[in-house]
This record gives sequence, structure tokens and C-alpha cells, in this order.
Amino acid sequence: MKRRRLLNPGPVTLAPSVREALATVPDLCHREPEYATLQQSVRDDLATLYESASDYSTTLLTGSGTAAVESMLTSLVPEGAAVLIAANGIYGQRMAAMASRAGIGHLVVESGITDPIDFAEVARRLAAHPEVSHIAAVHHETTIGRLNDLGRLAEVAAGRPILLDAVSSFGAEDIRFAEWNIEACAATANKCLHGVPGIAFVVAQRAALLEPGGQSPSIYLDLRANHLAQEDGYPQFTPAVQSLIALDVALRDLEAAGGWSGRGERYRSLMSRVRDGLAARGVEAMLPPADNAASLTSFRLPDSHDFEGLFQPLSDADFVIYPGQRQLYGEIFRVAVMGDLSDDDIAELVGVFDTVLS
Ligand SMILES: *Cc1c(COP(=O)(O)O)cnc(C)c1O
Repeated sequence: MKRRRLLNPGPVTLAPSVREALATVPDLCHREPEYATLQQSVRDDLATLYESASDYSTTLLTGSGTAAVESMLTSLVPEGAAVLIAANGIYGQRMAAMASRAGIGHLVVESGITDPIDFAEVARRLAAHPEVSHIAAVHHETTIGRLNDLGRLAEVAAGRPILLDAVSSFGAEDIRFAEWNIEACAATANKCLHGVPGIAFVVAQRAALLEPGGQSPSIYLDLRANHLAQEDGYPQFTPAVQSLIALDVALRDLEAAGGWSGRGERYRSLMSRVRDGLAARGVEAMLPPADNAASLTSFRLPDSHDFEGLFQPLSDADFVIYPGQRQLYGEIFRVAVMGDLSDDDIAELVGVFDTVLS
């Protein structure tokens, strides 16, 4: 089989171990005890991937990362309260659209899609709006690659719990559940965890899941109902069984790779070579490494190439880069180093860039 190197932020280039699990594990019904055991094991692994997370419980959902974010956001904000959404990119804007569609009370503090969160404005709005019960934010804003400063957000939140879109950070960045007062965080199997698409999940405080809360506007994405069913042993609806099998193997690979910190380190090592290689060709990164998440970097498109002009020759060499969204389409391209990529892959990539740009 042809090996394609996906440099988009998920789905990722699969490790042979994950591919083999998909091909060799026997068919499994989600009402068999073997499934219940697998489900429990993956839920526990996800809830304990971060050391501080022992008071938390995982709810698995079948859907993409967006399903997990929407389930979290629409299930945990009590009726009559409001969530303040700190948005500095497309995924933050999407959370605002979800709250709006579901009729959940919300305020949005929006900053530019290449800018940090406007912490001062968050503090001002919180002072003026005592009805705000939760803060929602994106950890790694994949729009540009920024890793938002959650320590500062937790400070200005002044005790209000955070609902975190950690879809593109879970498994590779530090998430300080207790210190940042994270009530819940939403993520997916097929980004930094290196699984296949199909399973997304919310890791939430047990206490928050037990509260009566507001009624979810969705049957399918009702976080508490899904959680209750899984606590009883089985999923509420037909899950992406094969995706869960793959995730189980991917989580063992992650453990062998040194957990989230080992994976983050690996990403940084690969990315520094991409950055250096491109800088030598005059292609600059949009953000300094200190502001950037480990897994993805946005680069300014060189004057000589539009996105298509860069994408096609790289794709011919089996490297798939990712465009900017909306107004960034004509300005940037993105490179993610999630997935099963080797040092040789990156050396080859830099070589292809060299040829294309010269
Ligand atoms: C990828 C991503 C999502 C969800 O995307 P899906 O396509 O639904 O998996 C949400 N938030 C962030 C920050 C992401 O990077």
C-alpha cells in the first residue's frame, strides 16, 4: 500500500499497529461483555491520561470532535445561566454558533484570529455579568496554531469553571485539570491520539455530570444520558466499534511514547526541523514557537506560490499540507506533525519543499 504522509490536523497517518488492529481484531457487537470491558478500559485510560484527572470520568460519543464540543457545551451550562466564550479563531466562533443555535445563554469575547484571547475584556465582561457560570475556550486554536494561555484564563475566570475544546491538544499538550479548574474538556480519537475518526469524547468532572443541570436540547448529544448509560456498562447508541478498537491500541502506543509529554516533545522535535527547513527557504512561521502548539504551525505562503501551487507538487510526493480557513486561505498554509511520521519523512518533506520553492 502506498504510504501517504498526512500533514493536516487529523485524520492522521496511521501507525502499523493501529492499522493491524483494524484488520485483525474479530468483529465485535457492542452488546457483548467484551465490548463493555473495552469501553471501560478506554474510558479509564482517557480520564487518567493527565495525572490530575482522577475525579473525572470519560463519556465516549460517536462523531467527530465537533460532536464532543457541542455535547459538552449544550449539556453543562445550567438553565438561566450563561457561558462566556473566549473566541480567537474559527473553533471559538463555532462554539458561539452552537450556543446560539441551542438557545443557551452566552456572551462572546472575540479577538482576531491571529491574536491571543482578550483577557482584559473577559475580566470586564465577567464583572458586568454575574449570570455567567462557565467560561468556554479553545486550547489549541487550530485556525492558526496558537496554544491559548489557560493559566491566565483561569486567573481572570475568578473561580468559574472552564469548558475546554481540547480537540487538537489532548494527548500532546499539558492540560492542568485541577489548577485551571477544568470542568470538562472535549477531544477526539483522530488528532494527537493517533486513532481513526469515529470516536470523540468528553472528560468531565464526575460531580458536574451528577448535577441535574439543564435539559440537553439533543437526544444524541445529551452528555449526562450518554454518561449514565456508559457507567452502567454499555453505550446508549451504536458506537463506532472499529474506531474504539483502534483507539485502544493507539492509547497503548501513546503510553509507550511517553504519554502526552513524550508525544508533545516528539512533535516539537519534528516541527523544529520543518521550521528550520522552511526558514532556510525564506518561508516564515506566523507565530513564534513559544506561542505555538506543538502539533501544528502556520506558515505565510511565499509570494511565488498560492496554496494550490504548493499543495499539488507536495501531494504528488505523498505529503498532504493543509490550507488556511476563510480569510487566511490566500495567506497561509498549515503543517501538522500529528500521526506516525518518522525523522526521514520530515527530511524528505524539507527536500521536496526545497525543490518546489527553488
Ligand atoms: C479539529 C478541531 C475540532 C473539531 O473538528 P471535527 O472536524 O469535528 O473533528 C474542534 N476544535 C478544534 C480546535 C479542532 O482542531
